[in-house]
Amino acid sequence: MALLQQADQRDLAESGQELHRFVSELYPICRSITGNGIRQTLSLIQKRIPLQIVEVASGTPVFDWTVPKEWNIRDAYIKDARGNRVVDFQKSTLHVLNYSTPVHATMSLSELKPHLFTLRDHPDWIPYRTSYYKPEWGFCLSHNQMLALADGNYEVCIDSTLEDGHLAYGEYYLPGRSSDEILISVHACHPSLANDNLSGLAVATSLAQILAGQDLRYSYRFLFVPGTIGAITWLARNRETACRIRHGLVLTCVGDAGGFHYKKSRRGDAEIDRATAHVLRHCGEAFEVLDFTPYGYDERQYCSPGFNLAVGCLMRSVWGTFPEYHTSADNVEFVRPQALAASLRVCTSIFDVLENNYRYRNLSPYGEPQLGKRNLYRATGGDGIGVEINARLWVLNFSDGEHSLLDIAERSGLSFAAIRNAAEILREGGLLARVPGAEA
Ligand code: ZN
Repeated sequence: MALLQQADQRDLAESGQELHRFVSELYPICRSITGNGIRQTLSLIQKRIPLQIVEVASGTPVFDWTVPKEWNIRDAYIKDARGNRVVDFQKSTLHVLNYSTPVHATMSLSELKPHLFTLRDHPDWIPYRTSYYKPEWGFCLSHNQMLALADGNYEVCIDSTLEDGHLAYGEYYLPGRSSDEILISVHACHPSLANDNLSGLAVATSLAQILAGQDLRYSYRFLFVPGTIGAITWLARNRETACRIRHGLVLTCVGDAGGFHYKKSRRGDAEIDRATAHVLRHCGEAFEVLDFTPYGYDERQYCSPGFNLAVGCLMRSVWGTFPEYHTSADNVEFVRPQALAASLRVCTSIFDVLENNYRYRNLSPYGEPQLGKRNLYRATGGDGIGVEINARLWVLNFSDGEHSLLDIAERSGLSFAAIRNAAEILREGGLLARVPGAEA
């Protein structure tokens, strides 16, 4: 039985609008790896799902790293000699080098310039830059804005603090029948960038809402963490129990108009890798499956050799390959409601595979059982007689206790949903029994 019917029934357009509204709501907040921006973001997610917010003190050792100081910012600007704010943090959170140390000084343009970052190739866009682990201050602005700066003195102000505090992350654990877990991890540390990764935050939040209250085989763990340091912090605090994660997905850049990309786990042949590739093959959109590489998002941490968890990364356009990446052009218009909704649907389809990927045994394996006399040689749903009967024959033939439903879906070329429906009907018809204890 499909556990995730709710997602299928939800009107795609309506769910897309809802996801896009959430992206727009989160967009203005100045997030960073620590500080009140990420807390404010987590509390908006908490209005939708019962998220637990975990605070870890600066200075806490986490494996080979240390939880950094907490960064907060109230205001920042560059004022010209007449007092006009020629660069104004209130207009874009990207204008400040993220994690800038505080500064308040008057200086000449030539003294200021080494602290300015622009994009020559896209002269109207503001770049997104960070300096997390090296104390520095700076401003990001459009190249045209910089060209318009006349010689003279400028008042520069970054009203920020970088002091001992906490790193905050959000965690939501949804218990299922088994203590085996499915991990969904998203980075929540970028300021006003929509695809990277408010898209991931919105889709993960909706997924949690859809899964809550359903009868689930697996337990689900949702993590909303600052990139790298957040995932490392979580792993350091949960070193002993992380092995309960049987399958996992990092979600990022899932709102743009590009086709899907799935980066496989380090294992490469894990069930999540096969399930995701299968769902993408049947999703009706362009897609590509990529091999694991040790750079990218937090899959790097979950797939570090000490853990080697079966965690892949689902994206639409791949980071660094689209010009809007890490610039002010990754805005709410760059993210499409339809694309967000389709990403959500792909995720629910992947979990539907994992939830239902059992092995069965054909109870009438000597010759083909006579479907007609059991009233099983006619279609029940919308797939048409050809697909439905074909799926039943595939399931009967390969349900030898060895092949999982995903094995059968892959081998038959039919969708997992068709195979799962066939198995359900055959089980109800007394022709199939689930192999006890055989988890896929
Ligand atoms: Zn990024």
